[in-house]
Amino acid sequence: MRPEPTRRTALYGLATAAAVVGFDPAARAWATEKRKPAEGDFDHVPPLDGTLLTDDASRDAASEDFGHIVHRRPAAVLRPGSVNDVVVMIRFCRRHKIPVAPRGQGHATFGQAQVKGGLVIETAPLKHIGPVKGDTVTVGGGARWSEVAKSTLRKGLTPPVFTDYLELSVGGTLSVGGLGGQTHRHGAQVDNVTELEVVTGAGELVRCSATRHADLFDAVRAGLGQCAIVVGATLRLVRAPRTVRHYQLPYTELSVFLEDQRRLIDDRRFDYVEGLVLPDATGAFRVHVLEAVAYGPPAGPEPDDDELLAGLRFERPGLVAETLDYYAFLDRLAASVAEQMEAGLWDDPHPWLNLLLPSDSVEELASGILDELRPEDVGTSGVVLLYPMRRKVLRTPLLRMPDDPAPYLLAVLRTSPPDDAATVKRLLAANRAAYELVRDAGGKQYPVGSIPFDRSDWRDQFGPAFPALAAARHRYDPAGLLAPGQGIF
Ligand SMILES: Cc1cc2nc3c(=O)[nH]c(=O)nc-3n(C[C@H](O)[C@H](O)[C@H](O)COP(=O)(O)OP(=O)(O)OC[C@H]3O[C@@H](n4cnc5c(N)ncnc54)[C@H](O)[C@@H]3O)c2cc1C
Repeated sequence: MRPEPTRRTALYGLATAAAVVGFDPAARAWATEKRKPAEGDFDHVPPLDGTLLTDDASRDAASEDFGHIVHRRPAAVLRPGSVNDVVVMIRFCRRHKIPVAPRGQGHATFGQAQVKGGLVIETAPLKHIGPVKGDTVTVGGGARWSEVAKSTLRKGLTPPVFTDYLELSVGGTLSVGGLGGQTHRHGAQVDNVTELEVVTGAGELVRCSATRHADLFDAVRAGLGQCAIVVGATLRLVRAPRTVRHYQLPYTELSVFLEDQRRLIDDRRFDYVEGLVLPDATGAFRVHVLEAVAYGPPAGPEPDDDELLAGLRFERPGLVAETLDYYAFLDRLAASVAEQMEAGLWDDPHPWLNLLLPSDSVEELASGILDELRPEDVGTSGVVLLYPMRRKVLRTPLLRMPDDPAPYLLAVLRTSPPDDAATVKRLLAANRAAYELVRDAGGKQYPVGSIPFDRSDWRDQFGPAFPALAAARHRYDPAGLLAPGQGIF
């Protein structure tokens, strides 16, 4: 599980940065070649296979994320050349009580992977993808899901659940849950990992699974980086289809759309079920598009349109049905993401709202939130998702869900205008209000968005799972160093 290349570049190689040589505990500052206290007054950084960066560009980059709302500047950034670099630097940070934020692809939206004055550990170099063994593959924590899928598809196999966007790190999505249209069948990504290799906040490299250090396994999956850094993961694989039949089914009535979605996850005739809510000509979010996918051979039978669509109450004239190559389906957002990047929209603020609604009040809650929504509060590149999952297959203790057989994800994936702090502030307040509405009805947040949250909110969020998380934190990260950007402890 070592990344390639394992080059012993060490600390001194960076042209732009003053080489870091250690940490001065009295001044609580990194010692560099330029600003080096007397020998004996600082602790030497251990030799590394990778690099420790303190230049402005690296620190600025680590104080950004996809949200572009929160900016916390670290004192240094570790670009590890090996898993051992993570181990030795965590031990070093523990000795000096330096907080540490693991960072995958930095696609959180509210500073979750940031740390003021601490050390950011980039996981991207830990992207090794091992050979497929039976029905599993072992990958580095920094591997992206696109890379994992491309690799396993060469053997005709695939992870069973994907997020809508594939350029997220394995460690990053396993830290939050990893939900997608296949979740109603297979659970979240965290439900489909058989073993993890982690570096705990105490600097121990540990393998954990359901049968080995199970408390750690349960504390890391959907554990928001609070106990350990995922450096490797063994993922379950299933047979992949060669092509899929992809349907977009329009609905005018929210209630009918929700009922049909629910019917589809209960009868499981599709392999993937999601849904979008779009504004109509008046700007009201009243156009609903059910997105459903049936896998073809060898993962399923040849899809039959009549059979698959039987009994559904969508508006026939708007039906779209197409056959896609499986990977093209998984990577369906790539073209629009490239366009957004090109247009600079990727750099705009993204005050996202991600909520998990109980099914018994989904219609009331969703329409309450959607009625307040204006197209400009979502943005031209934004999107609203609404789809159900099945509680029965969501088994990871820290992935908090409403106590309900079919929780719905409502995701308002907003892009807001650049240089407009007042709008971001208003949307964050709207996110908070929507969260409170949902929480009071027994819902949760899906913690990838931008909802102002304090410690007591986190206790509410984790509910009966909080004591186990707190105990694991105490045991595996006794100095309380890891992922402070989440604001849980
Ligand atoms: C365009 C887009 C589409 C998305 N679509 C979906 C979707 O369909 N379904 C879904 O579930 N989510 C989705 N997300 C949310 C995404 O899953 C989370 O934000 C995820 O955490 C991002 O992964 P990352 O590698 O960028 O993590 P980061 O943003 O780098 O980190 C997120 C959190 O995890 C911690 N962390 C990161 N790596 C590790 C590690 N190796 N070990 C321990 N802790 C770690 C960080 O400290 C931080 O607290 C989407 C996000 C974006 C931007």
